[in-house]
Amino acid sequence: MTARVELDEDFHVHSTWSDGASTLAENVASARERGLHTLCLVDHVRQDTAWVPEFTAAVAPYRGRPGLRVLAGVEAKILDTAGHLDLPLDLDDGVDLVLVADHRFPAAAGPLHPDDVFHAIKSGTTTAAQAIEDLCRATANAISPARCPRRPLLAHLFSVLPKIGLSESAVPDPILTELAWRIARSGALIEVNEKWCCPSPRTVAALAAAGVPLVAGSDSHHCRDIGRYDSVAATVSETAGNVARAGN
Ligand SMILES: [Zn+2]
Ligand SMILES: [Zn+2]
Repeated sequence: MTARVELDEDFHVHSTWSDGASTLAENVASARERGLHTLCLVDHVRQDTAWVPEFTAAVAPYRGRPGLRVLAGVEAKILDTAGHLDLPLDLDDGVDLVLVADHRFPAAAGPLHPDDVFHAIKSGTTTAAQAIEDLCRATANAISPARCPRRPLLAHLFSVLPKIGLSESAVPDPILTELAWRIARSGALIEVNEKWCCPSPRTVAALAAAGVPLVAGSDSHHCRDIGRYDSVAATVSETAGNVARAGN
């Protein structure tokens, strides 16, 4: 079995609606030039973001045209271990996917700056094992229907780990397997992310083994980067080896 990731799709493209440099029109034109079949236009939101209905209305004219499937997404950070998301309460019907992101460290009492967790581990106030457990619990809770009102897409899973001084290889096998199983049950998609080069081939192999659907995302903030995959392609080919070894 190999991890199946289509490289003619891009599920993570930012625009001037949040911190991207390119307009929706420029992003759509670039995706078409590159011959992509799916493009998910995504911008960052918070609980108090009021522009989501205008954003989905601006995406609507690009839908249903031949050759390119266009989706609308919002990217929201996980706030805490209970999996609360930094997302507007009444999410507009035009949102297809919620990109669930580890932009901060989701601790029990709320989001922490990764630097603070890094220092807490270094000083012994907390342990690496506890941080990993909290992060995996927060992630699994965030993609539950109680927390996420649309199909979740886990964006750049584990990108926060290097920021707190840890590597994905520190995630124990049983915790990774349990997380993969919970993701599979939730129906969430998992992004293999170009910008942050994560998740790792080992993680992707565990997810693929659990039957989790994998998609590619550039996390582009400029239309020239849409659908350009170096780290994603490398991860996918390395994953094939990991899956083979896991099966031995
Ligand atoms: Zn992000
Ligand atoms: Zn993003």
